[in-house]
Parts: sequence; C-alpha cells; structure tokens
Amino acid sequence: MLNTIPEIISNQKTFFKAQNTKDVSFRISLLKKLKQEIISREKDIFKALHSDFKKPSFEAFLSENGLVIAEINLAIKNLKSWSKPERVKSSVLLFPSKDYIYKSPYGTVLIIGPWNYPFQLAINPLIMAIAAGNTVVLKPSELTPNTSELLAEMVKHIFPKDMATVVQGGVEISTELLKQHWDYIFFTGSVSVGKIVAKAAAKHLTPVTLELGGKSPCIVDDTINLKLTAKRLVWGKFFNGGQTCIAPDYLIVKSSIKNDLIDALKNEILKAYGDAQNSADYPKIINHKNFIRLTQLLKDVNIAFGGDYNAEELYLAPTLIDEPPLDSEVMKDEIFGPILPILSYDTEDDIASIIQHFNKPLSLYVFSKNKRFIEDTIDKFSFGGGVINDTLIHYGNANLPFGGIGASGIGAYHGKFGFDTFTHFKAIVKRGNWYDPPFRYAPYSKRNFKLIKTLFKWFS
Ligand code: NAD
Repeated sequence: MLNTIPEIISNQKTFFKAQNTKDVSFRISLLKKLKQEIISREKDIFKALHSDFKKPSFEAFLSENGLVIAEINLAIKNLKSWSKPERVKSSVLLFPSKDYIYKSPYGTVLIIGPWNYPFQLAINPLIMAIAAGNTVVLKPSELTPNTSELLAEMVKHIFPKDMATVVQGGVEISTELLKQHWDYIFFTGSVSVGKIVAKAAAKHLTPVTLELGGKSPCIVDDTINLKLTAKRLVWGKFFNGGQTCIAPDYLIVKSSIKNDLIDALKNEILKAYGDAQNSADYPKIINHKNFIRLTQLLKDVNIAFGGDYNAEELYLAPTLIDEPPLDSEVMKDEIFGPILPILSYDTEDDIASIIQHFNKPLSLYVFSKNKRFIEDTIDKFSFGGGVINDTLIHYGNANLPFGGIGASGIGAYHGKFGFDTFTHFKAIVKRGNWYDPPFRYAPYSKRNFKLIKTLFKWFS
C-alpha cells in the first residue's frame, strides 16, 4: 500500500535522524548510480520529453540530460572537499582557538518542479540536496506526465525509499505537501505560486529557495553585428518553443536599426525552422490552457512575422510583434511562449523607463560592442544574471550562481552554489584551554577595559 504524505515525511525524518545520509562515500555512490541510470535511460528520457511536448532530442540533451550529467560529475568530483569542515582564520580576540565551518544537511527537503524543463529542473536540485546529505521528496509537474512518471521510476530504482521519493500530482498534492513541516523547500515555478510557497514556508520558518520568472529584457544597440545577433536571439527566444524562464521576453532596440533587425530575425527564423509547424526542431505549446493564453496575446497588436497557429496541434508560430504599447496584454506578464515583442529606444533614459516599468527580471541581455554602455547597463539595473552578446548561456556555467532577485526569486544554485544552498553552515570555535586571558571576566577593571579597547582597535 502507498504511504500517505505525512508517513513519507515521518519515515524520511527517521532515516535522516539515524544519520543514514551522513556517509559522504554513500552519497557519492548514489550519485554515481544516478548518473549511470540517466545515461542508460537516455532514450527513455528523450521519448518522455517528446511525448510531453514534442521536445527535440537535440534540445533535450543540451538542456536536460547534458546539464544534469555535468552537475553530477561536479558533485562526485568535489563532494569530499565540499563537505569537509573548513578551517577559517581565527580572531586574535578569541585566542587561543581554532575556528571552523561545519557543513550540515538541513534534513528533509521538498523540491517542487515546473513543466518547462521537467527533467533537469527536478533532478538538478535533487542532486545537490542529496550531495549535501538531505533526504528529498520531489514533486514534479503534473503537466508533463510522461517525464514525471519516468522520474518516479528512476528515483525509486536508485535511492533507498526513505531517502528520496517522487510524489506525483497537481495543485491538491502540492498544497498537501506544503502543509507539512519541511527543513527546506526548493521551488521552481511562477511568481504567483512562489508567493503561496513562501507563505506556507513562513508558518514553520522553513528556509526557501524560490526560482521564479518575470519579463527578461534584451537590449540591442546600433553597434552590433546584425546577422549574428539575430541568429543568437532566434536561438534563445524559440528554444523549447519559447517556454524558457530566462528567454528574452522582449527586445528594446535602437530605433535606427529596428527594421533591419526585424528583417534579420525573420531570415533566421526561416533558416532555423522553415515550415515551423512541421519542423521536428520546434516544440509544441505545453497544453491547451497555455495555448489559449498565448493566442489571446496576439489580439490588437502589430504582428511583424508569424502569428499563425493550430489549436489541435498546440502549434504557435515563432512570432514577432512590432511596438506593442507597455499597457498591452503581451507586455503585462511574462510571455513564456514563442512571441517576441520588439520595442525601440532613442536614449538610454528610454531604456531605463521601460525596464523599470517591470519587476526585477530573472535575466537581462545586452547586444552591443560599446563597453561603456555594457558596464553602465550591468551596473544600473537589478536582475538575476545575464549575458552580453548572447542569450541563455549563463545557465550552463556551474561556476556561476543561478537565481533571481526581488520578484524573480530568492536564493541561487548550480554547482557549489547548489551544494551550499542545501547546506547549513555551522560555525564552530574550538577554544584552547592552555591559556585563559583574564581580561574579560568580572569584576571589570578600568585597566582591562582600556586593554580590551586597544585589542579591538588593533585586531578587529
Ligand atoms: P507553476 O508555478 O504553475 O507550477 C510549478 C509547480 O507548482 C508545479 O509542480 C505545480 O504543480 C505546482 N503548483 C501549481 N499551482 C500551485 C498551487 N496553487 N499551490 C501549490 N503548488 C502549485 O509554474 P509552471 O507553469 O510549471 O512553470 C512556469 C513558470 O516557472 C514560469 O513563470 C517560469 O518563468 C518559471 N520558471 C522559473 C525557472 C527558474 O529557474 N527561475 C525555471 C523554469 C520555470
């Protein structure tokens, strides 16, 4: 018989308390098994992703399997050193002492995943949660049932059942999970659900990472290589059918080159996908609800390219929109689909007034050869992370933290940042007994007060 949610959590807490996840070699052996499982089931993963939303295997490898294997390799290679107590410089004021940071897992972690990169965005946080010594309940998206089922099978096959479990289901199950007392919650998804998660976590003061979304701008000035810029923009915007949290949501283009850029974008779209409806390289919209939401955004706007769709196939063409007003539907919320609004600017103040109209974005992109403009832009705006002269690729470097700021998220992960996210840093001072400086003890003398002040002045 299947366990209830409270039973699953209680079993995981017991497993954790028994120190079953303590042994670093044991964690490494599980990560090695997981890696083998992902490699040997590569075709099953591709098939599940294709059944869920026609994701091409090429994109699946690049954005799901490949990234996950790289993350596991990094964890396997570094886990022994990451998890060791780290000696830090002591303070003369604590003399004699040796000071350390001990790395402790939080305990039982809830991971809730979205549908758009359903394998990678579920497994990547799980890798580092396990690497750090936690137990994990993973709730993948209900909108990608084939991938979620496969995830459940794989996790069941690799991990002791009280160490990692997949719980499948939609909002009801998610709500039930969020009522429980977790030691950490890692959520990837929309801003609105992020707020629900934060509220539920607050009840038990559970720490959270929220990987959310938002409208990520892309600025294009008039110093660029037009063809290369258009090629990279088309790749970044229409990868995964435009259903990427860090896709450039809209362009802000120097008005003098806007028409040339639109022509170059059209060319690149045709080169990449030809007849996009029948292209094996172009995924479909995830479900009917999102399809309707996206097609509604095309009302009352000036479509410069694309705009055709087919409800039965959940197909929406790569679409360019020319100068939608800031209060139009397409400019209100994150688009999360293959629609690219193109706004124009004349002055840098125009750019600021557009970007600052929205919440702090997850990503920001700049295409320019002007170093001053690039540095000013990085400095001026608040955003999660970004790329100069390309899109999306910052996600692929595990030496960079990935996360948002403000409404686009709280916290970050990837590589060592992921290990640290799932780790509590215990500060430990080991005091020596061979000498006991007498100054701090009562009764406090004027002489010792002076001495303490001098010590602070010299050594702090
Ligand atoms: P979503 O917020 O609708 O769903 C995410 C998860 O939350 C799912 O597992 C779902 O079952 C659960 N959920 C949905 N409604 C809930 C509720 N009322 N209470 C509790 N749980 C609930 O997001 P989505 O549609 O799966 O993904 C799209 C969003 O995710 C976009 O906004 C995108 O920008 C964002 N996203 C962010 C990142 C990132 O790394 N920052 C990555 C991918 C997607």
